[in-house]
Amino acid sequence: MIFSWIARRRRDRIRRQPMRSDWSQIIDRNVAYVHRLNRDERAKLESDALVFIAEKNWEGCQGLTISDEIRVTIAAQISLLCLGFNDQFFDMVQSILVYPDVYTGKSHTSLGSGVLMEGVSHREGEAWYRGPVILSWADVMEDGVRDNDGNNLVLHEFAHQLDMLNGRVVDGTPPLETQAQFDRWQAIIDREYEQLVSDCQYGRSHVFDSYGAEHISEFFAVATETFFERPLSFRARHPELYEIFSQYYRQNPAARFDG
Ligand SMILES: [Zn+2]
Repeated sequence: MIFSWIARRRRDRIRRQPMRSDWSQIIDRNVAYVHRLNRDERAKLESDALVFIAEKNWEGCQGLTISDEIRVTIAAQISLLCLGFNDQFFDMVQSILVYPDVYTGKSHTSLGSGVLMEGVSHREGEAWYRGPVILSWADVMEDGVRDNDGNNLVLHEFAHQLDMLNGRVVDGTPPLETQAQFDRWQAIIDREYEQLVSDCQYGRSHVFDSYGAEHISEFFAVATETFFERPLSFRARHPELYEIFSQYYRQNPAARFDG
């Protein structure tokens, strides 16, 4: 999407506004993680959240009415993911669809030779390439108020969107600055993903949620949740992966949990 000069000016204006105090209070109540942030981080989070609130189309599904609480709570959690980035507003994601709770979607599973099995599955959220992010509000709330269990739906779905910034193929690798970084990332993430698959297979203990063993793209999304919410175990057991995640996200969540 070409970002026009007018849109850029509008965005800069939004970012300079202070956040309304009632919105700030919503963040205090619903996004436990913000209490770990320093003043500057909190200010950055609020100014980014204002952009998400203003620029995205927020749509309620199954009769859910979008309120300030919904917009502010979700926008603050996306902004947490983006704290280390200067200008990441997911311009390819124009809409955020919110269901009241877990919802049912049609699933398609290929059985090979052109056979496609269709069924229904229960979902908490989805991320579409150049399309919307879909979220269950009940899960957003549940994950928002607990910041140290390694589960966060908003971080998960938007990590998929980061993965898709370099193309439709979700491969657990977001855009990186240099070829050397890319090569190192792929070597480490491939190895760590295989490790989780084998840990799950043989019933060994693991830090990451076993859903990450479904596909390497799920591994990246699940590991992102763990990176933010259980950084100490992540760093202790997977130091190299922790290092490349810290470089990529430009954040060191372990420092927020130490001591
Ligand atoms: Zn996922």
